[in-house]
Amino acid sequence: MNTARPFPRLASINRSQLLLHSVDVENLIEPDHSARGIWELVGRLDLSHYYSEIFAVEGHAGRDHTAPQLLISLWLYAYSRGVSSAREVARRCAYEPGFAWLCGLQPISHRTLAGFRSDHKEAVDDLFVQVVGMLSAEGLITMERFTLDGTKIKANASGNTLRRKEKIEAHLALAREQVLKMNEQTAQEEKLSARRAAAQRRAARQRVSRMEAALREVERLQEGKRHTGDRSTSRASTTDPEAHVMRNGEGGTVPSFNVQLITDTAHGLVVNVEATTDAIDYRQVDAALKRCEEQLGILPAELVADGDYTNHASVQATADAGVDFYGSWRDSWRPSERDAHGRCGNFISSAFPYDAARDVYSCPAGNLLTLLKIKEDENGVRTRVYRASKATCRRCSLRDQCGPKKQKPGWARSISRNEDPPASAAFKVKMETEAAKQIYRQRSQLAEFPHAWLKERCGLRQFRCRGRIKTSIEATWACLSYNLIRWFSIRRKFQAQVAAWA
Ligand code: SF4
Repeated sequence: MNTARPFPRLASINRSQLLLHSVDVENLIEPDHSARGIWELVGRLDLSHYYSEIFAVEGHAGRDHTAPQLLISLWLYAYSRGVSSAREVARRCAYEPGFAWLCGLQPISHRTLAGFRSDHKEAVDDLFVQVVGMLSAEGLITMERFTLDGTKIKANASGNTLRRKEKIEAHLALAREQVLKMNEQTAQEEKLSARRAAAQRRAARQRVSRMEAALREVERLQEGKRHTGDRSTSRASTTDPEAHVMRNGEGGTVPSFNVQLITDTAHGLVVNVEATTDAIDYRQVDAALKRCEEQLGILPAELVADGDYTNHASVQATADAGVDFYGSWRDSWRPSERDAHGRCGNFISSAFPYDAARDVYSCPAGNLLTLLKIKEDENGVRTRVYRASKATCRRCSLRDQCGPKKQKPGWARSISRNEDPPASAAFKVKMETEAAKQIYRQRSQLAEFPHAWLKERCGLRQFRCRGRIKTSIEATWACLSYNLIRWFSIRRKFQAQVAAWA
């Protein structure tokens, strides 16, 4: 008897058929989907900044303009899904339920999306402030305590595009020559479509303007270096001249922008964002306070920032603005066994006993260093300089141990002591208290969470746009998306709590 099992009967796949599907667009996504929340919220915002730039009006000929509410909602939803490419958003509008629901399954051009994102700086800033106002009205932003922190985000330019001045000048000459040639090539132009020829001429002109901007930037950098006595050669990117080489979190040095975020500590929501070209955070506190005042019309009661921001200038700026500043002071002086000149033991400046009553220092040979002068820098830091007598040091047997290795004939030992301005002295006393330390300890978690979100969830590891203004706009879109998603999450938690209590 044949006991072999018959071959399984399988459903066939017919790929040669044409199907018509009916799609219920409204039910593509569930009622509490974040795309609906974004659409509804954007609908409550005042979009008059965008409307004022639309020339297609009722009763006149021309194509309808894509609704700003749709484009704003698409970008906010895209960043919340980690999508920052305009082409990818346009693709997803055809098949991904959230995008498809937003655009009603109508195709959207990636050029429309890209142009809308990077233009309208004022309108995007206005949207951001409106959302901050809404969050504030709901009590989620208290304006009591802000944190300030920066994160480096790669520019849309590779390290290979960095050029020295001579190279940029050579490339610029070539680019200008090419523009001239293209303007003369009318015969060849006839063979190309008018649109293609115009695009080629535009690309050539853009290349010239990028080279000119790179040349200006490299000259500006060199001018800055001349003032500081730095003899190193400056380079600028020919793709994004405003991007500067910065060390990023992964340890690499690539053209980047330093994005400064101001976060309200009540619920970790971002209240201000700006892309800067400064590789260091040293001078950012004053600029951040000005942005708060200009855009929000208010200054926080307290500001918390890390050691990169903590210096005399920042402390003075916050004191002048009436903001209570919390930071981590990094003293440049550290006790060590040897100083920069190789001196050790009793010959290190810090080992010289100071007599406050007579305002003098005593040296290891028992001689006195008396006050020579008092200097004051632009931050109000006073430096008191004490010096021993030249004649005494010349005759001293300890001169080799006390002086630098290379001594000039008229050398005499001197000691400098910095005196903090009153604001810095008060700041240091405050930061020794337990209450201040506790406030500072909360900083890293609150300030760095939005950075991680922007990079991991919004996909903002590298900018798509170029130039400081456009990258600022892109960072603002990502922060808007972050604030909205965080708002929805807080609201969901609150509703779950209410349901649990009921
Ligand atoms: S070199 Fe001058 S300062 Fe130094 S130990 Fe001698 S006398 Fe004192």
